[in-house]
Amino acid sequence: MALIVAKFGGTSVASPERIKNVARRLVRMRQDGHSVVAVVSAMGKTTDELMGLASAVSSQPPARELDRLLSTGEQVSMTLLAMALENLGYRALSFTGRQAGIETDSSHRQAKIIKVHNERIMEALEAGAIPVVAGFQGIDAAGDITTLGRGGSDTTAVAVAWGIGADVCEIYSDVDGVYTTDPRVAPRAQKLDQISYDDMLELSSAGSGVLQSRAVEFARKWNVVIHSRSAFSDAEGTYIKEDPDMEEAVITGIAHDTSEVKVTMRHLPDTSGVAAKVFSALASNMVNTDMIIQNISEDGYTDISFTCPGADLDRARETLDRIMPDLGGREYVVDESIAKVSLVGTGMKSSPGVAARAFTTLGENNINILAISTSPIRLSMVVDAAQAAQAVRCLHTAFGLDSDSVFVETQLSAEEIAAKMKKGR
Ligand code: ASP
Ligand code: MG
Repeated sequence: MALIVAKFGGTSVASPERIKNVARRLVRMRQDGHSVVAVVSAMGKTTDELMGLASAVSSQPPARELDRLLSTGEQVSMTLLAMALENLGYRALSFTGRQAGIETDSSHRQAKIIKVHNERIMEALEAGAIPVVAGFQGIDAAGDITTLGRGGSDTTAVAVAWGIGADVCEIYSDVDGVYTTDPRVAPRAQKLDQISYDDMLELSSAGSGVLQSRAVEFARKWNVVIHSRSAFSDAEGTYIKEDPDMEEAVITGIAHDTSEVKVTMRHLPDTSGVAAKVFSALASNMVNTDMIIQNISEDGYTDISFTCPGADLDRARETLDRIMPDLGGREYVVDESIAKVSLVGTGMKSSPGVAARAFTTLGENNINILAISTSPIRLSMVVDAAQAAQAVRCLHTAFGLDSDSVFVETQLSAEEIAAKMKKGR
């Protein structure tokens, strides 16, 4: 019989009715003989609402106060879940991050877990209770409450699983696992039974948002097995673990990301030190550049393009407005309607010809590639945003990822599907 950490996301605990469902699910695990620790997110959109309250009273809420405020969301859901469990005749004890022994550094809003003191959770388990832990929060050395970044309850769950030596960290959400690509874009996407940490991390950073990346990094570091599955069905989801025991495909999945923009600096002097100046200035203004392309130089001048998150665009403009005149560059142009399509797979390492096949496929479909970047296990291509869905579909087919059946979303209500579309998978 297993020791299980079960994390439930905001949608799964959005109403009293859903909290009762979660309680029944935990009771079933107990009846099957497992020991279980629950970790919860805040109900529904609570965290956003709390953020809204904070910005209604302050243009720049102090980070310490904001963390204190945001942490209350999870404290509501944890107590309600404990009550619902007690109501079913099971002993339950809720714990805030501090009570659960989640010790973090002091970087408010983005705190990193440095230690998990497992005593209280272990004691509760030994006493036969179901511990219910508030996700997303910890305590720093000064005794102040910290939060772990948006989506941070996933990280809490993995950390607790590690701290108590759980067999598996189950992450329940409104998606039923990790897919080869977004099924709303490519209806022949398949749910993966297993995926390696490396592939999962590349997929998440390339834009597929099933799990908080930091949770996967933590799991990889401490070898915690994650099972990402649906809160609304009993179907098995996707296991994220070190060595998936299945035949390795060349490509595991295809992610796409429309949140980046492309900036091209025209007619920059092609002399040493120019790129250094541009990218140092961008970096010190907190612009996260992703892909960088320098064109062949002509007459001592060259064009340099880079992509960055759309959220960084204002800072990028501000930086370039400031430095371009000094550098002797002519102008810069911004293209906001781009999409990055990424093929991800550890199998790529041992399989030449991936790039050739990808480029041929896009070429045959008249999709122009605007930029390319690679890592040993990822090939990213920037295309026009209007062609992104088509690019994903034809690559999915070309790399043999299509399933025989067409994806239909069955378990979710129209309201849930709409919410999911808004959030992005
Ligand atoms: N409630 C927090 C958020 O919305 C943490 C989480 O849901 O994991 O970001
Ligand atoms: Mg969440």
